[in-house]
Amino acid sequence: MTSRGYLGQDIVVRFAPSPNGLLHLGHAYAACVAYDYARERGGKLLLRIEDIDAGRSKAEFVDSILADMRWLGLDWDGDVIFQSERLAKYAEAAENLKQKGLLYPCFCSRSDIRSVQKKEGLIKGPDGPIYSGTCRNLGSDEVATRVKTEPHNWRLDVGKAVRLTGDLSWHDERHGDQQADPAALGDVVLIPKDTSVSYHLAVTLDDARDGITHVVRGADLFASTHIHRLLQALLDLPVPRYVHHGILLDEIGLKLSKSRDSASLAVLREEGVDGHILANELRKNIFPVGITLTKD
Ligand code: GLU
Repeated sequence: MTSRGYLGQDIVVRFAPSPNGLLHLGHAYAACVAYDYARERGGKLLLRIEDIDAGRSKAEFVDSILADMRWLGLDWDGDVIFQSERLAKYAEAAENLKQKGLLYPCFCSRSDIRSVQKKEGLIKGPDGPIYSGTCRNLGSDEVATRVKTEPHNWRLDVGKAVRLTGDLSWHDERHGDQQADPAALGDVVLIPKDTSVSYHLAVTLDDARDGITHVVRGADLFASTHIHRLLQALLDLPVPRYVHHGILLDEIGLKLSKSRDSASLAVLREEGVDGHILANELRKNIFPVGITLTKD
C-alpha cells in the first residue's frame, strides 16, 4: 500500500505521551489511531516518552504508560525513546537559533503578561492569549544587564523568522493542504526558564531525528503544527505529513485531561477491564456514556 509517495515499509509513526500523569481514554484513542495508521500500512510505530519537564515527569507514570500500551495490545518498534536523553541536542538547536538572532529573552512573569493583557486587551490565539511582545524590542544594553540577573524565557521572534523563511505550507491527510500561519500563536517560548526546552522545539527536532514520516496526533495540536513547520524551515529539517484526528470530550464538552482527573487507564486496568476489547471499541467509536469524539 502506498500513501502519497511513501512505500508501506517506510512509514514511521510515533505515539508520544508525556509522563506527567496517568493516561486516560483520550490517550488510548490517540494511541490506537497512531498504531493502526502504521500497522495497516506495514509501517513502524515508535514510542517516545516526552519527559522534558523534569519537575512533572515521574518514573511511575512511564511504567504506567508501558503497562497501558501492553494492556491495549499495542506494541511498538525498537527501544522506548526518552526525550530527557536528548537535552544536549535541543540545546544545540536552540543555540543555532540564538546565533541567527531569532530568539530574544523575555523577562515577563505570568502576572506581568496578565496585566499587559488587561491594559491592552487580549489578543486571542487558537491556544490561548498571544504574548504581546513587551520584551521583543528591548535595547541591547538593557538586555545584556537583565539577562545576567533576571529569570527569563527565550522566545522565538516569529515575525523575523517568517521574513527569513517566506511562505510555508504543510499537508494534513484529513484537513488537506495548509498554508503555515505561525504568527497565529505569537512569539512562543522555545527555552523556558524552568525547563531547558519547550514542547515545540523538542517535538520538531525529534520527529526529524526519529525519521517520522507521518505525525498522527490529536487535533488539539493542529495549531502547533504552524510553529513546527516554521522550525523545520529554520533548522533545515524534513517536513513530515500530518494526520490530526478528533479528540475525546467529557460530559460537559471539555477535553479529557490528566489535571481534571479524567478516568485513568490504570484504574480501568486495575478494575479488570479487558484492554483489547476497549481498544477495539475505541476503534469503532464506541465510547463510555458521556464521552464524545470531535470531528477531526
Ligand atoms: N507529548 C504530547 C502530549 O502528551 C504529544 C505530542 C505530539 O503528539 O506532538 O500531549
